[in-house]
Parts: sequence; structure tokens; C-alpha cells
Amino acid sequence: MSEAADIPHRKLAPGKLVIASHNKGKLREIGELLAPFGIETVSAAAMDVPEPEETGTSFIANAELKARFSADLTGLPALADDSGLCVEALGGEPGIFSARWAEMEDGRRDFDEGMRRVHDRLLEAGEEAGRDAHFVCALSIAWPDGHVETFEGRVDGILVWPPRGSQGFGYDAMFQPLGHDISFGEMDPAAKHAMSHRADAFAKLVAAVF
Ligand code: IMP
Repeated sequence: MSEAADIPHRKLAPGKLVIASHNKGKLREIGELLAPFGIETVSAAAMDVPEPEETGTSFIANAELKARFSADLTGLPALADDSGLCVEALGGEPGIFSARWAEMEDGRRDFDEGMRRVHDRLLEAGEEAGRDAHFVCALSIAWPDGHVETFEGRVDGILVWPPRGSQGFGYDAMFQPLGHDISFGEMDPAAKHAMSHRADAFAKLVAAVF
């Protein structure tokens, strides 16, 4: 992973940036985070780029794989996000499998069910296992010549039950960031962007690449 302090970082030249995600929640948040920079974006779906199989064993490996896949197919720089919820009492699960934990038999994703699965596993672990959790986000920008820059962000919190709020997406409604008494699901998007794992990774990316 490259960090902001490492040099040299490649700067993003003016032009189109492909957002290599098919997740509506992520697309919206990445669009909001990119808005102040006046970067012209296009989604992978709009360029008929399918979703690659996520075969990596870490957030960083999967973010790089997705960014490279879109950059190779479009000939444009591409930005990908791989992220997830890591629960300390579950040894870091669901982690890179966060989306898969919400998958139903018909392949649909249902995060009410995903959150319930996390909650059920926590009940099995017992009260003494604690409710600490964190979100991780790896952001990669890949260029068509194979160069890639990757940054990782994190936010710590606790899990609450029942889920609260309908803002955000994924596991937001059961995650309460440290130092706050509302969940990400209850939080205004601007407030989430001031502290989230995605905003943390994004700030590092902006400092290095923009
Ligand atoms: P993937 O990175 O596409 O494999 O999916 C990551 C999954 O992690 C998403 O589908 C969400 O369920 C979850 N996730 C990642 N970031 C967030 C977030 O900011 N809030 C809630 N859930 C998230």
C-alpha cells in the first residue's frame, strides 16, 4: 500500500475517471466525496464493464483487482473501493465477505438479513465477547499502464441492536462510531463523510494523487 508520506505518487491528470463499483451506496458516497474536486466520472456499469470476481484475500488486494480490471477494459484510470465491517468478537468477520454475508439463496443482497446474521453470531459469542467493530475501506486508482495507488481508511465503533436509522447503506444501521450516540444509519451523510472509513481513505488518496 502506498501512503501519503511515500513518494513518488502519480498524480491524476485531467480527464475521465471510471468509478469501478456497481454498489449504489458506494457510488453515491464516492460521488459526494469527489464532488469538490470537479473530476469527470463515469460508472463502470455505464461503460459496460462487468464486476470481476473478488478473489483477493484482503481489502487492498480486492480494491486493486477491481481498479485494474476496469482500467484494463476501458483504457481510462479507474477508482475502486473494497470495504467491509470487521467485528472483533468474530475474529474480524465478516470482513472482506461483508457483501456475501447479506446474500440470499437467489443471489439478492438483503442487509436486514446480513445485519441479523452478524447479530446472531454475536449472541453465540456471548455478552463478554464485547461489541467492538470497525469498518475498513481500501481505495485503489489503477492506470491503464498498470500503475496503481492504494490507500486504506478505518473507523472504530460498537455494534447496536436493533438497527437504527435508514440513511446510508449496508451495515450502517447497526454501527455506532466511537464518541457518538447515533448510528451511521441515523447520521446525516455529511456527518458520516466527516469521519467514515471511506472518508479517511479518501483524504489520503486526495493528498497523494490529486
Ligand atoms: P464489497 O467491497 O463490494 O465487497 O462490499 C463491501 C460491503 O461492505 C458492502 O456491500 C456493505 O455491505 C459493507 N460496507 C462497506 N462500506 C460500508 C459503509 O460505509 N456502510 C455500511 N456498510 C458498508
